[in-house]
Amino acid sequence: MSVTVRVPAKVNVQLAVGGARPDGFHDLANVFLAVGLYDEVTATPADELRITCEGPDAGQVPLDRTNLAARAAIALAERHGLAPDVHLHIAKDIPVAGGMAGGSADAAGALLACDTLWGTNTSRDELLEICAELGSDVPFSLVGGAALGTGRGERLRALEVGGTFHWVFAVADGGLSTPAVYGEFDRLSEGVRVPEPVASQELLDALAKGDAAALAAAVSNDLQPAALSLFPSLTGTLDAGRAAGALAALVSGSGPTTAFLTRDAGGAQAVAQALLASGTCRTARVAPSPAPGATVL
Ligand code: ATP
Repeated sequence: MSVTVRVPAKVNVQLAVGGARPDGFHDLANVFLAVGLYDEVTATPADELRITCEGPDAGQVPLDRTNLAARAAIALAERHGLAPDVHLHIAKDIPVAGGMAGGSADAAGALLACDTLWGTNTSRDELLEICAELGSDVPFSLVGGAALGTGRGERLRALEVGGTFHWVFAVADGGLSTPAVYGEFDRLSEGVRVPEPVASQELLDALAKGDAAALAAAVSNDLQPAALSLFPSLTGTLDAGRAAGALAALVSGSGPTTAFLTRDAGGAQAVAQALLASGTCRTARVAPSPAPGATVL
């Protein structure tokens, strides 16, 4: 018997970052939107914990206990006094180290798949607690849809979304480490007073109305200058998407994936083709939002 769980990627339509806290973390106002690019995690009983991965970026995914999916299985097993003897197979479609929370998606997927396989019937609240221990983006991967994350991003409030938004994601050649991008943010903001992060009411209203033009006017990412500083060629990708008619162009999370909001599905296809033809990215993917959270197939 096996259990397969499908989990979405995310884009941050707002990522407001406060100054570094004494513990090194940053307070955030983080508006997550789940998008229709998915990893699938399949859990099958095994003699010991084993991870395999398939997909174009599979070579960059660790297959040992540092894999976030493995850490999720271990955390759940420990809570229930079980041995984490499971084979986790990850069918990876979310870009690796791309700022789209691929590792977090696999952690949420593994948690739900193992809970179902082992019949441990963990409550939603307890699953969310384990998710928050695994990483700031993991709780959102479990719930999907749209949500405002505060604290380190892990305290979530579900948000209403009044329509479908059509995105294009340009995948860069190479990755960016999230801690390195926060380090660059700290360097760039030295001596500057960083304001308290607050969610934009215009942005929340645009999401609730399903209004793409209003959302495009309100999107923001405080990590973008740091990501561009470490990965300057992304400026060319952003320009190419804007020139192709995208309503908004921004770095996705800590990058280096760039996100382009378009008017409709046809607009998304056109921007994707133009981005590919521009030679400024490795690949361009079209995806609608919002997408559901981790789902047992
Ligand atoms: P985020 O948007 O949450 O900052 P990301 O999308 O930029 O994350 P990930 O794809 O989650 O980045 O991977 C970041 C690093 O985590 C990888 O370089 C890899 O070494 C490690 N990692 C651990 N587990 C996984 C996993 N299941 N899938 C991908 N990467 C993983």
